[in-house]
Amino acid sequence: MFKSIIRMTLGILLIGQLGAQTQGEIIRESSVRATLSHLASDALMGRDTPSPGLESAATWIENEFRKAGLKPLPGLHGFRHHYAKPGWALKGSDVELTVRAGRTTVILKPGRDVRVFSNVKMVDAEDAPLTRGRRRRGEPRPAARIIEVGTDSPLWRAAEGERKILKSRWGGGGVVLLVREGLLPAGELVGDLHLPAPRAVELDLVNVVGWLPGRSRKDEYVMLSAHYDHIGLKANTGDDVIANGADDDASGTTAVVELAKSLGARAVAPARSLLFVCFSGEEKGLLGSAAFAASPPVPLERIVADVNIEMIGRPREGKRMAAWLTGEDFSDFKDYAARAFKRAGVKLVTFGMARQLFRQSDNWSLAAKGVVAHSISAGSLHKDYHRVTDEVKKIDLEHMTRIIGALRELALELGNAKESPQYNEKGKAVLNRRQRRR
Ligand SMILES: [Zn+2]
Repeated sequence: MFKSIIRMTLGILLIGQLGAQTQGEIIRESSVRATLSHLASDALMGRDTPSPGLESAATWIENEFRKAGLKPLPGLHGFRHHYAKPGWALKGSDVELTVRAGRTTVILKPGRDVRVFSNVKMVDAEDAPLTRGRRRRGEPRPAARIIEVGTDSPLWRAAEGERKILKSRWGGGGVVLLVREGLLPAGELVGDLHLPAPRAVELDLVNVVGWLPGRSRKDEYVMLSAHYDHIGLKANTGDDVIANGADDDASGTTAVVELAKSLGARAVAPARSLLFVCFSGEEKGLLGSAAFAASPPVPLERIVADVNIEMIGRPREGKRMAAWLTGEDFSDFKDYAARAFKRAGVKLVTFGMARQLFRQSDNWSLAAKGVVAHSISAGSLHKDYHRVTDEVKKIDLEHMTRIIGALRELALELGNAKESPQYNEKGKAVLNRRQRRR
C-alpha cells in the first residue's frame, strides 16, 4: 500500500516534468560498453549474413527488446520480420583434393585435412593450379585458393558441417578451401580437385523489430534503425580472421538497443509510436531494409521518419561530440536533429561525402519509397573500415554515449512533434532519379 502511494506520487511527479530522466532512462557508458562488447565479440564471428553468429545476435537483440518492455508489432512473428533469399548450402567435407609440389604428392582426407569454405559450382579439375593464401595481382585465376589454418581457427570451425552462403555476387567469388596446417608440401602447388555443386536452398533471414506504442498517435511511427550484420570472417592469412565490425555497425545497433532500454523505461511514452529496427544483410546490398520496405509491417506512409544510425564510435580528428547526416540538404530533418542534439551538447556538422553516402546505407531503402530517411553518423571512414581491426578497443565510448543521448533527444523531438519532416525540391529530385548505385 505504502509502496503504491510512493509509486503513484512518483508517477505524478514524472508526468509533471516530461523532460526529467529516471534512473532507468539515463544512457550510461558502462551499459553502452557492455552492449557493444557483446555485439562485436568474437563469439558472434563477425555477424555475416547468413551465419550462426548473426542468428545469435538476433536472438540477443530480441531478448533486450523484451526486457526493455517493447512490444512485437501485430502481424509479425514476435520481434522477427522474416524475408527469404536464395542461397547455397556447402558441406565442409564435400571435397576431394590431392596436391602435388615437385615430386611430393599428398592426398588430403575430406573434413579432417581439407574443408570447403566457399564454392558455388561443380569443379572437376586435374593438374590444376592452386594458390596458397591471397591471390597475387596478375596471377592466373587458380582452380582454388587454399588457406592453411590451425584446427582452432574460426575459419576451420565455420566450415565444419554445413555452411550457408548467399547466392549473390558477394557470396560467390572463387573456390576457397581450408587445409590443416603442416600438411602441404613446399613450392608451387597443382592438384586434382573434385567438388560437387552446392545445394541450392532458400535462406530465412531476419530483421528484428520492436514497438513502443505512442501515447496519443499510436498509428504514426518514428523509426530508429541500424544494421546488425557485418562482413563475417575474412579468409586472409593473418592471425585475426574475425571482422568484428565494432564501429560498423555494432555501434549503431548498440544505439538502437540502448535507446529501446532508455525510452522503454519512460513513465510517459512519446505521442507517436517508436519502432526499433535492426536490419540484416546491409553489407550484402541493403537486403534487410529493402525487404522491410517491400513488405513493411506498418504502412510506409505512416512512418514519419527513419533515423538510421551508422558508425558513431570513432569521431573524426577534432570532431568529438559532433554528428553528421547523409543527404542533409534533401529535407528539413536536419532542423529537428539540430534542435535535439543541441539539448544533449552535440553539434550537427557537415561531412564532405554526406551526399553520396545517402544511397549507401539502409536509409536509402526507405527513402526510395518516399519515407524521410537519413543516416546519422558520428564517425569517420577510418582505415579500419571493413577490416579485422575494427575493434571495440578503438571506440571512443564517452563520445558514443553522448551521441546516443543526443539520438534519444531526437527520438523524443520527432515522437512529440506536431509536424513531420518533409523532403524539399532537391530531395524530391534525387528520389525521382532513383539512381541506385548497387
Ligand atoms: Zn555500415
